[in-house]
Amino acid sequence: MANGIIFDIKRYAIHDGPGIRTTAFFKGCPLDCRWCHNPEGKKCEPETIIVRNRRKGSGKYKKREKETFGRMVTVEDLMTEIRKDAIFYDQSCGGITFSGGEPMMQMDFLNAVLRACKSDGFSTALDTCGHAPPDDFERISGLVDFFLYDLKMIDDGRHMKCIGVSNSLILDNLVMLSEKGHRIILRIPLIPGITDTDANLADILKFIESIKNVNEISLLPYNKLGEDKLGKFGMKNILGPLQTQTRAELDLKAARFRSRGYKVQIGG
Ligand code: SF4
Repeated sequence: MANGIIFDIKRYAIHDGPGIRTTAFFKGCPLDCRWCHNPEGKKCEPETIIVRNRRKGSGKYKKREKETFGRMVTVEDLMTEIRKDAIFYDQSCGGITFSGGEPMMQMDFLNAVLRACKSDGFSTALDTCGHAPPDDFERISGLVDFFLYDLKMIDDGRHMKCIGVSNSLILDNLVMLSEKGHRIILRIPLIPGITDTDANLADILKFIESIKNVNEISLLPYNKLGEDKLGKFGMKNILGPLQTQTRAELDLKAARFRSRGYKVQIGG
């Protein structure tokens, strides 16, 4: 049976889909977003990073220490963790969310864990960046109750510049999943001046209005956690410090989609 590499498991998660969920974070991502909030999840293999944690109170950095991100697990190891909270999934209409990184970078392992979840009767969600072969989506889509599908930018030139790859596969897979009638919650990370611009949101609205079956949208306010991690890991922050959107700004962006009939949530 396939083994996998995960770098975190979050229990009692309430922002990764409906109800109370357990979220498993898989290592490896095919994208290179400039604002990545999980830089420790990008490489496929476990990695040791020299970290500088801040001292409580003073905010100053402590001595550097080595920390390893990512560990090999079997399907049964992960299922043991997942089963610990089974009672909460039932009571809250929650379940399991697979996130990362990009879980589809570990297809055999993902497929095996999804099968095990279905055999236990758990609801499953896949948080995906969409950049994966269409055949891989075909392979697992029957085991996924809904997709948390990240859509960042429509302008392909800007997508390549800020994310490192073309968005054509991402858009094609979104169309394919929507045509097959899968439940999709579209997640738009709002990066100040990059993805949260009027022009980009207008482009996204135009694109989703041209496809079927996307009715739910989560607008994800800019998360400064990524900046903190870059400081802690001693990595370069290319974008510099950015400001999270105000509530009024978020409401305005949400209103734009709501006025066209979409169900919009601010946050995960
Ligand atoms: S898709 Fe997510 S994990 Fe991958 S580079 Fe972008 S922000 Fe990071």
